[in-house]
Amino acid sequence: MFKKILIANRGEIACRVAATARRMGIRTVAVYSEADANAKHVRACDEAVAISATPGGNAPRDSYLRVEAILAAARATGAEAIHPGYGFLSENEDFARACAGAGLVFIGPPPSAIQAMGLKAEAKRLMEQAGVPLVPGYHGAEQSPELLRREAESIGYPVLIKASAGGGGKGMRVVERAQDFDAALEACRREAARSFGDDAVLIEKYLRRPRHIEIQVFTDTQGQGVYLFERDCSVQRRHQKVLEEAPAPGLSDTLRRQMGRAALSAAQAVGYVGAGTVEFIVEQTGDDETPGQTAPVSGAGAGHTALKFYFMEMNTRLQVEHPVTEAITGLDLVEWQLRVAAGQSLPLTQEQLRITGHAIEARLCAENPDTGFLPATGRLAVYRKPPAACFTRADVGTGFVRVDDGVEEGDEITPWYDPMIGKLIVHGATREEALARLDAALARVRIVGVANNVQFLRHVLATPSFARARLDTGLIERESARLFGREPLSLPLQVAAVVARVLADEADQVVGAHLGTPFSPYARPDGWRAWGQATRRFDFVVHEQLVHALLRYGPAEQRYLTVRWGGELAEGPLSFLPLPEGWLDLGWAGKRHGVAVHRQQAHWHVFTAEGAGSIAQCDTLSDAQVTHEVTGRLVAPMPGKVLSFAVRPGETVRKGQVLAVMEAMKMEHAITAPTDGTVEALLYAPGDQVAEGVELLRLSSAVSQQESVLPGH
Ligand code: ADP
Ligand code: ADP
Ligand code: MG
Repeated sequence: MFKKILIANRGEIACRVAATARRMGIRTVAVYSEADANAKHVRACDEAVAISATPGGNAPRDSYLRVEAILAAARATGAEAIHPGYGFLSENEDFARACAGAGLVFIGPPPSAIQAMGLKAEAKRLMEQAGVPLVPGYHGAEQSPELLRREAESIGYPVLIKASAGGGGKGMRVVERAQDFDAALEACRREAARSFGDDAVLIEKYLRRPRHIEIQVFTDTQGQGVYLFERDCSVQRRHQKVLEEAPAPGLSDTLRRQMGRAALSAAQAVGYVGAGTVEFIVEQTGDDETPGQTAPVSGAGAGHTALKFYFMEMNTRLQVEHPVTEAITGLDLVEWQLRVAAGQSLPLTQEQLRITGHAIEARLCAENPDTGFLPATGRLAVYRKPPAACFTRADVGTGFVRVDDGVEEGDEITPWYDPMIGKLIVHGATREEALARLDAALARVRIVGVANNVQFLRHVLATPSFARARLDTGLIERESARLFGREPLSLPLQVAAVVARVLADEADQVVGAHLGTPFSPYARPDGWRAWGQATRRFDFVVHEQLVHALLRYGPAEQRYLTVRWGGELAEGPLSFLPLPEGWLDLGWAGKRHGVAVHRQQAHWHVFTAEGAGSIAQCDTLSDAQVTHEVTGRLVAPMPGKVLSFAVRPGETVRKGQVLAVMEAMKMEHAITAPTDGTVEALLYAPGDQVAEGVELLRLSSAVSQQESVLPGH
């Protein structure tokens, strides 16, 4: 076995690999960019080497993609092997070759296998020869628009045009009607050339409500291979995975075996070695054509749903969602990778592999679901997560919560890399148990400072489609009414939580300040006054509306809270008990709630089992007017490239309308109008690289700059 390995990656996967290496007694070397000098993955390894180009080596091509710098780091530290993680250099056959050339073991498949699976079209040609079922489509070398259009016609609309070199959900276009084909082909080619440097496309039948089910395979250098069952990754946004689970709900043993064998033959057809994933798209057709209504995947002929699976692509690396497979098999896939790379044979045979229980993974991302999943950056002012935990019950066995992440509280989510903060993985005896555990774990995630998808994930878990395992790639769209622009957490509950937090903090301070005079009435945290009844007023602004809270102290530490907003009123007794880790047991209007409250300047962030929200406190005595930002400047939210402008100078636009599209953090972002207005000027051209915060275009707004939010009272 290796004595020392270098991990050519960052974030959660670098930490993940380091953890297994440490357990196996293997020393680790981290590499890092300038922005990552103090990152968690650097601290997770025994040694670390800076690999940034100077100056300013943060972009992937100036850091984690610098092959020479990484090889030099390995030589300098005496590492024998390189683990590439996922993303970055993991599927780069030139890097795998360069490792071999430098006398280092690349912990992954042979370069020839990476190459064979690297282009979707070529991979499909190989799979066709190996007898693996393919989605009906065209994946030939000839690329004339006339031929492609004819092929699309013979496949039958709708079709999907895919960049052969594509990945990460990019470079795909659905075409519903023949008359739209030419324009879509054009657009897809442009995006493919820009993102992948290769404009070759393939065409597939576009399946209406498919499931994405992938098989984890493992092969060794002795020619043995096994499949470690499947993962259902149907819950996607922008063709990217959001939730992943194993086993796939309703998959019959027969179909599991068929898919497992097909995946293994796919791997063996290209001489694969190590961990790989064969992605299948599974077509659900049956009597019942209602979207999402027929969950059971039982194989052709059984039940109402006929199931057909087709090869989509093979990812020649460890996958983001590998922990769900680890959870149901009880194995450590990184350990297997290291063993196979060191020349050992696979630790188990197919017959020895078993599925136990059910696992689900949720990707925590720095993004805003309500603005089309626009990635977010910023400092994680608060980042608390559920403790990793293991539950053992004699009747159902074990279940657990696992957190894989690459950041700590106080860390920065920078614009340079992927917006994934981490992953929450849960295991339970049944899917129902795992789902409940995941929801409870998400309720304990507290993030302040960076927009994130935690509440969105909870909403997805609560949809009837997800709860009943009616999975298909259209789930998020179908359930959108339940997922986007949701009512925030109950306003009076948020106010009560904030008031309780303020009182609890004051009680701590008062007790601290009067340690020497414990019997002084001024040491009583109950609003005691020498005379009269004590009342206190708190004012908040929520969605431009003023909220007043009045707290009255009664006898015997009783407190009574009245909350008024926009003609509405809520009131009741308020009580609280401090709990560990910043939680409070809040009693409010006859109910008890576990709440946590964090302050960031004027904003209070409230976390409860029912959801999270935030309210701003204001001082109505001094702020007679509260200005809210109505800006005429439209700035780049992050460094990136301007792809296009959707408007021209002089054009009038409506609030929410797309004005421009940028590309950053591996994604395209629409910049939308914050208000109705008129476009005054475009300040950049498509193709321009822009820094964060630069003004992209100027909009003259139709709304006044200041608005009074203070109603008469
Ligand atoms: P998957 O199907 O496993 O999500 P993707 O091709 O979307 O595969 O990418 C895998 C993962 O690799 C991403 O989720 C991301 O975390 C990581 N990744 C890829 N490219 C980059 C990059 N340039 N910077 C940081 N992380 C990256
Ligand atoms: P990537 O390399 O970006 O991961 P894939 O070929 O794996 O590209 O496709 C990504 C996703 O797009 C799939 O998980 C699925 O949701 C959707 N998709 C791909 N092919 C089809 C198809 N033929 N019909 C319907 N949806 C598809
Ligand atoms: Mg894919």
